[in-house]
Amino acid sequence: MIKPPAIEIQGLTKAYNGVKALQGVDITIEEGQFYGLLGPNGAGKSTTINILTGLVRREAGSTKIFGRDTVKDFRFTRAQLGIAAQELPIDWFFPIKKLLAFQAGYYGISKRQAQAQIDELLERLGLSKKRNSRLRQLSGGMKRRYQIAKALVHNPKIIILDEPTAGVDVELRHELWDYLRELHKAGKTILLTTHYIEEAELLCEEVAIIDEGKIIKQGQPQQLTRELGRSGVTIHLSGWHADLPNLLSEYTCTDCDQGRLHFTMREPEQALPSIIKILVEKGCHIHRIETERSSLEDVFLSLTGKGIDR
Ligand code: ADP
Repeated sequence: MIKPPAIEIQGLTKAYNGVKALQGVDITIEEGQFYGLLGPNGAGKSTTINILTGLVRREAGSTKIFGRDTVKDFRFTRAQLGIAAQELPIDWFFPIKKLLAFQAGYYGISKRQAQAQIDELLERLGLSKKRNSRLRQLSGGMKRRYQIAKALVHNPKIIILDEPTAGVDVELRHELWDYLRELHKAGKTILLTTHYIEEAELLCEEVAIIDEGKIIKQGQPQQLTRELGRSGVTIHLSGWHADLPNLLSEYTCTDCDQGRLHFTMREPEQALPSIIKILVEKGCHIHRIETERSSLEDVFLSLTGKGIDR
């Protein structure tokens, strides 16, 4: 029998008082995949996640976890998910190790059974020393790590992280990325929402770009940047020849002066040899070539005509 996908969303729509938050979203995430939902603020990322977890009611369409409906089979589907939400937790009164034990309890895991998992999570997320602290005594970054521990305490198969590194400093961001990579290696299915392009590029095997409640593109990050991105190439040179602008006219030279040529192109590895040949034949001396790799930001820009951080 073919295994159902870990997450399958089809034709999902949602409006809040007439505001169309989702307009027919389709997403399929296979088990074990590291998947990124990428889009600017207000694109519909949280709404999608909140429907999967039962916090928000879907309007039309279907949402399934391992082939089972998230509304009809709520108990089963919810137990498969660990969610690190964006909102800060509000349970201020207990030490975090206790809060994690409560959380495990919601999934029917006894305190004794949960203990080893809690210890390991606190250790792995650098919170061991804070095990007896209250949430309000933790720094912003620590609270974020606590959120992740909370998502993982019942050892779910699918981990959903809503903007896990928003507002987190660079060092902690890298630590969290390493940890997410480990979870992925261990076979977890991960759905991450982000508006940090770099995060999606570095971590995700597959991304969906969402804007105004619609998935506008889906694919592997590298494939998308190859297909839709544009790289910048700068050639520093001496020995200018008056024919050059003419000879290079078939390439998009966005900045063309006597010491420096800047091109924007889809596939620099294809065009560069011919450009260099022309320059050398005209007696130019090439000092340096710089390339800027295109990114998902370019992809987003070429699809929507606007930046992701607008
Ligand atoms: P994202 O997570 O990508 O930032 P959201 O899913 O939070 O986007 O929001 C999608 C759209 O739905 C936005 O226009 C937002 O203002 C609106 N929205 C989200 N939640 C609510 C709500 N509870 N009530 C009314 N509008 C909402």
